[in-house]
Amino acid sequence: NVMKQNPRVRIAPSPTGDPHVGTAYVGLFNMVFARKWGGSFVLRIEDTDQTRSTQESEDAILHSLKWAGLEWDEGPDVGGDFGPYRQSERTDLYQKFAMKLVESGNAYHCFATAEELAEMRKVAREKKLGTSYDRRYRDLDAAEVQARIDAGESYVIRLKFPTEGSTTFHDELRGDVTIDNGQIDDQILLKSDGFPTYHLANVVDDHLMGITHVIRAEEWISSTPKHVRLYEAFGWEPPVFVHLPLLRNLDKSKISKRKNPVSLEFFRRAGYLPEALLNFLGMMGWSMPDEREKFTVAEMVESFTWDRVSLAGPVFNVEKLEWLNGLYIRDLPAAELKKRIMEEILPDSLFDAMLPLLQERLRRLDDFFPMGTFFLTTDIQWTAEDLLPKGMDKKTVYRGLKDLSGFLDTLNPWNAEIIEQGLADWHERNQEAWSKRNMYILVRKIATGRKASPPLFESMETVGKAFCQDRFRRAMLLFRP
Ligand code: GLU
Repeated sequence: NVMKQNPRVRIAPSPTGDPHVGTAYVGLFNMVFARKWGGSFVLRIEDTDQTRSTQESEDAILHSLKWAGLEWDEGPDVGGDFGPYRQSERTDLYQKFAMKLVESGNAYHCFATAEELAEMRKVAREKKLGTSYDRRYRDLDAAEVQARIDAGESYVIRLKFPTEGSTTFHDELRGDVTIDNGQIDDQILLKSDGFPTYHLANVVDDHLMGITHVIRAEEWISSTPKHVRLYEAFGWEPPVFVHLPLLRNLDKSKISKRKNPVSLEFFRRAGYLPEALLNFLGMMGWSMPDEREKFTVAEMVESFTWDRVSLAGPVFNVEKLEWLNGLYIRDLPAAELKKRIMEEILPDSLFDAMLPLLQERLRRLDDFFPMGTFFLTTDIQWTAEDLLPKGMDKKTVYRGLKDLSGFLDTLNPWNAEIIEQGLADWHERNQEAWSKRNMYILVRKIATGRKASPPLFESMETVGKAFCQDRFRRAMLLFRP
């Protein structure tokens, strides 16, 4: 297998939210494969969605992945020969390559307005068509295209995708995968603001960065025919594709933050050791030849082959992770254990943030820990009865908490001011079902585990987003019908 020598692989997170455990999982398999075969592991930031990407999310992702123990050879922070590694710094490249496709007849200008697109979607729904764009601008003649551009009409560039037949690509784990072309729209490559879509930027960068193996999650399989078509249109050799099985909740559904903690920051704050987390992620869909469950990354590299990947959806079972984590904790020399506790559970920054919040309330110094445990631990428990606001029914509370949990996820940066404003806004929108009093009492009980606490918004900031999210998620589940 010649392709295996010195492979170049990558992960390509989009900085649009909190660092996700799935990114670490896919990153681990990329890193292990690169190390096994003497290759390079690249980290690229896919920030083409300008409305959703933030620098803060990028920083958090890099920080969490490093904490987890991933080490990339090239990336926006460490540089490399194939940079820049942030797509927003490569925009002119994508424009150039999109125009090449137009010139070679593989892509075209599409002038459809929002109204036209809405109309097309409606027709597609009514006729139950596989695609929603009716390709009406696909065969415009060059003169008309130019005239519309000159008249200042806004346009996107779309890929000409075959309307008949099917597209087949090879997946290292699944063999040949065939998708019916009738299901695939003429994908937008370049948006009207001149920014590329994921598909164009991803393919151009994988090619220019010399990526030999695209190792990513199963959810991208449906995009791969478009990518294969793009490689063909450019006349480039496509990489080897490997689609890893998606992580799953206990009930086998796709992993989701409603059912599982998924933020890497949560696992760090909760005191999972990164070596245990990586070991656990290595067990997701892969196993050691001798089936043993405890192994290091180096041992995984040593024994790694694709044929030990199982496609049956790996279940992200936090109890199993906890068991494994316990084994790793037992292995730590006392001095190292102390260091980990001080660094992760009670770092100076957290201690300093707790001090002013608790000082007002301390009668003796030894009140500090009992009063402050809610800042330090995941172990906050209540029953539905403890939480049920006066005069409200469970179903309304469930609906409210579900909505509020989702809303809290969107609050960035996580600080007292934004939390205060956010909760006020949320209340404003939900005042029919929620009195102010009911809402704030409930939020306080969930976030701090107490009826009375230091100032709420400052407390929530210091508890941290990851712990608050976990508490709201667990509280919501208590009310699930
Ligand atoms: N930006 C995509 C993501 O957020 C990358 C998918 C891929 O690896 O091609 O996961």
